[in-house]
Amino acid sequence: MAASATWSLDAGSTAASSGTRFLVYPQPPFVPGYERPEPVWLPFPPGEIAPGPESRLAYVRDPILPKAPYESPYLPPYRGLSHPRAEPGPDGHFDHLEPGSRAFMAAHAFACVHRVLDICENYAGRPLPWFFTSNFEKLEIVPNFPWNNAQSGFGFIELGEDDSSDIPFPFALNFDVIAHEVAHLVLFSALGPPRTGAPTADFGAYHEAVSDFLSLVGLLHFDTALDRILRRTRGNLLVMNELDRFAELTDERQVRRLSHSLRLPDVGSEVHDRSRPFAGAFFDALIEVYQVILFERGLTELDPRDFSYLRMELGAHELERQLQTTAEDYALRHFAVKAALADARDILGRTLARSWRFLEADGLSFGDAREALVLAARSGPDRAYADLIAANFAWRGFG
Ligand SMILES: [Zn+2]
Repeated sequence: MAASATWSLDAGSTAASSGTRFLVYPQPPFVPGYERPEPVWLPFPPGEIAPGPESRLAYVRDPILPKAPYESPYLPPYRGLSHPRAEPGPDGHFDHLEPGSRAFMAAHAFACVHRVLDICENYAGRPLPWFFTSNFEKLEIVPNFPWNNAQSGFGFIELGEDDSSDIPFPFALNFDVIAHEVAHLVLFSALGPPRTGAPTADFGAYHEAVSDFLSLVGLLHFDTALDRILRRTRGNLLVMNELDRFAELTDERQVRRLSHSLRLPDVGSEVHDRSRPFAGAFFDALIEVYQVILFERGLTELDPRDFSYLRMELGAHELERQLQTTAEDYALRHFAVKAALADARDILGRTLARSWRFLEADGLSFGDAREALVLAARSGPDRAYADLIAANFAWRGFG
């Protein structure tokens, strides 16, 4: 009797202090393996998030009639008729909402926004207040209207629909797209907009690269994603990356976008195109740090630090031979391998967030951004990986 009383007490107090529960799809539910949403805890006590949902930082407005996308001077708040607010359950959580309902979609978009902000603030080790708080108290989230795009800006994030197939799919249910937009807002929080003159070409491209990478980092905070990516590749992310084949083998869109071998001279000046080598360097650095951690923990024989750049020095077939493992072998190491990937994710995420202290929006260049990353790595807890990070950006053509 005593034991069960203690257990129920502990369970109750843990639930009360863990935050507010929502359900989030790590990938759109039509991607195989991601059909069900996962519980995600937002850092607010149950009861603090009001119907909407609405927190002290953000609220959802879900227009009934089609609206025009925001564009200065047309900015929030949205004053038209809106769908009813999504209500919390009696326990203060929002995970009771029915997938497929309007309210679920609103709560999903809200949860994705807060989840990414939470991750970034954790890496930065400080709150990252919205850059627009002198004009708007909170971020307005417009979860759905007929528009084939998504954008974030001065006081808002608004999400249309992917209409590339017969049935338009709402971006509100696409963590990847929302994470990318929130990352833009986070970068504006950390660096601000340029104060003097127009933004440099690299400023926009840096924004895109970082937003893509943070979207991947966000994905890797889901258990399902870590499990699926690792079990499918038997933990061999290096060889998949090396062959540029990882992108073809994977269903996760973040990975498909980042796994490539483009270098700076290979791309044009269009901002998304120009962002790709820098984003690719993040991806390579993540995979190599992961590989080093595996080596240090006795989980592999291959140490990437024995090579100045693996992509060049060790052929794909040799890599594949060295890293080959049977499914049975891998199954016995899965949890240790997963911990290594989570650690590598955090090392890169932390280094990136710390690098913002050394960067300024005015005159920002990729060279500055790379230097800031290396400086952040060298001056922090992850200094052991600083040279490896520097080398990956150098190979892509930065510095
Ligand atoms: Zn973008």
